[in-house]
Amino acid sequence: MEILQSEFVKSSSKIEECPEAKYPEFAFIGRSNVGKSSLVNMLANNKKLAKVSGKPGKTQLINHFLINNNWFLVDLPGYGWAKASKTDKAKWGEMIHDYIIGRENLHNVFVLVDSRLTPQQIDVEFINWLGENGIPLAIIFTKADKQSKNKNQSAIAKYRKVLKSTWEELPPMLLTSSASFEGKEDVLKFIENYIR
Ligand code: GDP
Repeated sequence: MEILQSEFVKSSSKIEECPEAKYPEFAFIGRSNVGKSSLVNMLANNKKLAKVSGKPGKTQLINHFLINNNWFLVDLPGYGWAKASKTDKAKWGEMIHDYIIGRENLHNVFVLVDSRLTPQQIDVEFINWLGENGIPLAIIFTKADKQSKNKNQSAIAKYRKVLKSTWEELPPMLLTSSASFEGKEDVLKFIENYIR
């Protein structure tokens, strides 16, 4: 799939404000600074669609983009930013919970993890929470260009090992780089399989 059209639709602070659920929807989430905005922009061939920001955790809204006039790409606010207050964390939790559990057209959640890091508790907990709630997900390893192929493969292997004990069938795992465009087609193909 080639993304020919991408437009910002709306930012919402809660599920009730989200646009009418009339297209299949694919959400992207991860720790702040994981490379989510860069990935969204790479997928959409649009350098300015999602802002690549130096200020982690700034956008705490659910951002809807309409892609090719037939599916929604959703940029969810990142988690795990150190400076967030307890109130902000609680607000984030409630918004994400309501959205992920309640959004009827949500087809898949892409959880982004930095390929250079060993599995982080916050990511593993989030992935397991999705699994426990029966939400389809795929893990996207970001910034693959920053290290060797071997190290990238070992990062994936570590995730498999950590998740093996709780997962009967492991979620799909995709390796990407917004700098080298690695994995772009894999992610788009993954989405295309759902919307066809
Ligand atoms: P977000 O907070 O998750 O949206 O992360 P950003 O997309 O803003 O990226 C955080 C930082 O990582 C920025 O400085 C990006 O330029 C850099 N970055 C993101 N993706 C990649 C990648 O695939 N390769 C490299 N080398 N840098 C990346």
